[in-house]
Amino acid sequence: MPASSALERDLGSFLPRESIVVEGRSAYLADETEARGILGRAEAIVIPSSTEEVCKVLAWCYDHGVPVVPRGGGTGFAGGAVPLDGGVVLGLERLTGIRSFEPLLWRICVEAGLRTANLRGIARENGLVFPPDPGAAEQSQIGGNIATNAGGPHAFKYGVTGAWVTGLEAVVPPGEVVSLGGPIRKDVAGYDLKSLLIGSEGTLGIITAAWLKLLPAPEAALPVAAFYGGVVDGCAAIERVLGNGLLVAALEYLDGASLEATGAAFPAERPRGAAFLVIAEADGSKEEAEGLRKDLVQVLGEGALALHAPTKSTAIAELWRWRDGVSIAVSASRGGKVSEDIVVPLDRLGEAIEETLAIGRRHGLPACSWGHAGDGNLHSTFQRTFDPKGLLNPGKKVARVGSGPER
Ligand SMILES: Cc1cc2nc3c(=O)[nH]c(=O)nc-3n(C[C@H](O)[C@H](O)[C@H](O)COP(=O)(O)OP(=O)(O)OC[C@H]3O[C@@H](n4cnc5c(N)ncnc54)[C@H](O)[C@@H]3O)c2cc1C
Repeated sequence: MPASSALERDLGSFLPRESIVVEGRSAYLADETEARGILGRAEAIVIPSSTEEVCKVLAWCYDHGVPVVPRGGGTGFAGGAVPLDGGVVLGLERLTGIRSFEPLLWRICVEAGLRTANLRGIARENGLVFPPDPGAAEQSQIGGNIATNAGGPHAFKYGVTGAWVTGLEAVVPPGEVVSLGGPIRKDVAGYDLKSLLIGSEGTLGIITAAWLKLLPAPEAALPVAAFYGGVVDGCAAIERVLGNGLLVAALEYLDGASLEATGAAFPAERPRGAAFLVIAEADGSKEEAEGLRKDLVQVLGEGALALHAPTKSTAIAELWRWRDGVSIAVSASRGGKVSEDIVVPLDRLGEAIEETLAIGRRHGLPACSWGHAGDGNLHSTFQRTFDPKGLLNPGKKVARVGSGPER
């Protein structure tokens, strides 16, 4: 068993043993930025089992001037959960309770460590939907989604995570529990303090629970995927969807290089010369979704090389499973990548896609992009092989970010 630090011993004086991580600590020192060599160090890692324990840790750290880094599922791309300056990592993974669930009132109150996919599953089993769907839902936690105000494919129609939060419980310095908002859908008297915490990435406090709105699940969701010969035709199709007033649930794209990296697994035939893909989804009642799908086939069909518009639930699930795997497939195609999550005005999406490729050319790196076209949100990506742990070149010192001793 690894030797415990002085800080762990101090925390152990008021925390139960199971709330302090002693083995497998390295898993708490990095997030999705690990591939860029961003690794942290921590004197202690705690995983409290209750809001009260979170309070005790925060109060102790506040009194002793020790930094605290809250951690959800560690799927962030910005290094926010990485303890660059040491201190205490506070993982929320044991706070997974459902505090209240009123399906008939379309609302739920959950603890922050509940995984996004589990929350969506609970809603689905009750005929409801929690619309935010950031891509790493199996691993990310609702607290992390709120702390990053995460989006996802369906943010185009339904908004980002913050739009679904009506209240928060959080622990703020010097270790106090605050309740901001609550279960009520319209709660506008006074300052909207919960919105300060949404997207604050753990800098203002630790979210321990959230009251969330839900919606009745749409009866049908029908995607239409359209291939084009290039960026100009693809972006024109995206703008036509909006210009025709088609309120789709999702409006996604992949450029030619992303298609190259991932297209072999596309669940239908890919036409020759395909260099851009648009996926739009029509949802609503069966009648609404079918009507909108028909419009999409017409609007996206203009200038398209081919359309794939599955109607069977298995084929639809297959298409979205493929879309969910794009990030991983792009990484795997060359062994590593740096992705920046950027947003541009929709009318300049084509320019941003082309400029991503140009930046790659300037630096001699293969580049590509894909993302949530409807929101003008692209994952500008540069591919290369990373070796954060120095495994390919053991003699070479690995660059670290942050101060303090290496571990
Ligand atoms: C494959 C993949 C696809 C993704 N797709 C999307 C996407 O479509 N849209 C999008 O917006 N994002 C996307 N992301 C990134 C996204 O931000 C995360 O997936 C998710 O929202 C982070 O949640 P997490 O629980 O993993 O948080 P972490 O990565 O653990 O933490 C993220 C930040 O939030 C803070 N934090 C975590 N929990 C709490 C808490 N309880 N209280 C206070 N602060 C907290 C951390 O300190 C850190 O600053 C994707 C990531 C991956 C790996």
